[in-house]
Amino acid sequence: MTDSTKYLLPEDKLPKAWYNLAADLPVPLPPPLHPGTGQPIGPDDLAPIFPMAVIAQEVSTERWIDIPEPVREVYRLWRPSPLIRARRLEKVLGTPAKIFFKYEGVSPAGSHKPNTAVPQAFYNQQEGIRKLSTETGAGQWGSSLAFAGSLFGLEVQVFMVKISYHQKPYRRALMETYGATCIASPSPLTNAGRAILDADPDSHGSLGIAISEAVEVAATRDDTKYALGSVLNHVCLHQTVIGEEAMLQMEMAGTTPDVVVACTGGGSNFAGLAFPYVREKIKGAKVRLVGVEPASCPTLTKGTYAYDFGDTGHLTPLVKMHTLGSTFMPPGTHAGGLRYHGMAPMVSHLKELGLMEARSYHQTECFAAAVAFTRAEGIVPAPESSHAVKAAIDEALRCKAEGKAETILFNLSGHGHFDMQAYTDYFAGKLTDLDYSEADLDAALSALPKMG
Ligand SMILES: *Cc1c(COP(=O)(O)O)cnc(C)c1O
Repeated sequence: MTDSTKYLLPEDKLPKAWYNLAADLPVPLPPPLHPGTGQPIGPDDLAPIFPMAVIAQEVSTERWIDIPEPVREVYRLWRPSPLIRARRLEKVLGTPAKIFFKYEGVSPAGSHKPNTAVPQAFYNQQEGIRKLSTETGAGQWGSSLAFAGSLFGLEVQVFMVKISYHQKPYRRALMETYGATCIASPSPLTNAGRAILDADPDSHGSLGIAISEAVEVAATRDDTKYALGSVLNHVCLHQTVIGEEAMLQMEMAGTTPDVVVACTGGGSNFAGLAFPYVREKIKGAKVRLVGVEPASCPTLTKGTYAYDFGDTGHLTPLVKMHTLGSTFMPPGTHAGGLRYHGMAPMVSHLKELGLMEARSYHQTECFAAAVAFTRAEGIVPAPESSHAVKAAIDEALRCKAEGKAETILFNLSGHGHFDMQAYTDYFAGKLTDLDYSEADLDAALSALPKMG
């Protein structure tokens, strides 16, 4: 088995439970706070927007949470996902390192996001909900929830950041093919959207604005709940199927990773691959965990660890996280899924505890890495995933320089088949390495909610 290229698990090895890192954290996670009272929120505060099963998972400290059988049945459409040894890339790089990647692009929507969209749709259906509202940036989350909604008979309404709505018509077409409706945000359908449009009729929108619109729809309709594709604890939880499978597959390959790498937008695909390894690290295993983000939206590497809102309209609870400020607008890059102002509280907490590292890269060096990867391994990475590819290659080159045969495991969170315009722009030399504005960052950080 150790000579294989692909490590495939049979369907009966699909995990039966998600792993909840909250059970093993050496210091508990700071609780979410009510923005009005500054007190920890309770289940009742979240009940208008999330189903009870999801709220229970959000605050759970149980180590293992059973995956419902109807969810496992849907997972079997593409899971367990393959673990692949990037032998050709190793050769091209001339590295003594072993490079493995977990490939989440095999899901119907083309990324890791259905791992949480499916259970979220299932729990909502179980609780009698008819409709889900959500936001999407580049369209990956919107298409994943549209897919999940179609399987469980739920209507899905997606507020898509306006600039992407126009730039990525095929993502919109995919959502509509699954039966969802897709609305350019800011929209005139909500108070939050109308307020933005009044101030700036030409607003390109942002993830923070789209979240405000989607939350407002859920909060004002009894038959509708909201679904979030990253950041929250329950999303990180659902993604741990990735790491639990990877552990079994690495065992088949006869090795364990010295370094685990994933890109970080809201933190969920990193959480999914890394949290099971964090469990081992807390128990004493020697493994490095590396989150990789864009230099243009450097939440973990340049953000402040503070309580902040999850959205621009300030409808959400306050959560403690690395943040660039809820009003921060990162420059437009092709890695739309990495353009969120905050980071998962769980991932932020790990960074504070020194259990993980973070680094950032500019987009052109990530595309260069992605092209090298594609020409060696054949798979075109999503622009988001290209950040993980770049970091994995850098680790492999470090191993080469140091003459070390380490094992590197990274998450290839999705394929780039809907993002080929980004590659076309890259080849045409049209991509530049945009920096965020220091003045805008200072302004956004100075507007963080005052605590205590
Ligand atoms: C959404 C997305 C990301 C970023 O989100 P995380 O929650 O940080 O994982 C990364 N890769 C792909 C392919 C995505 O669709």
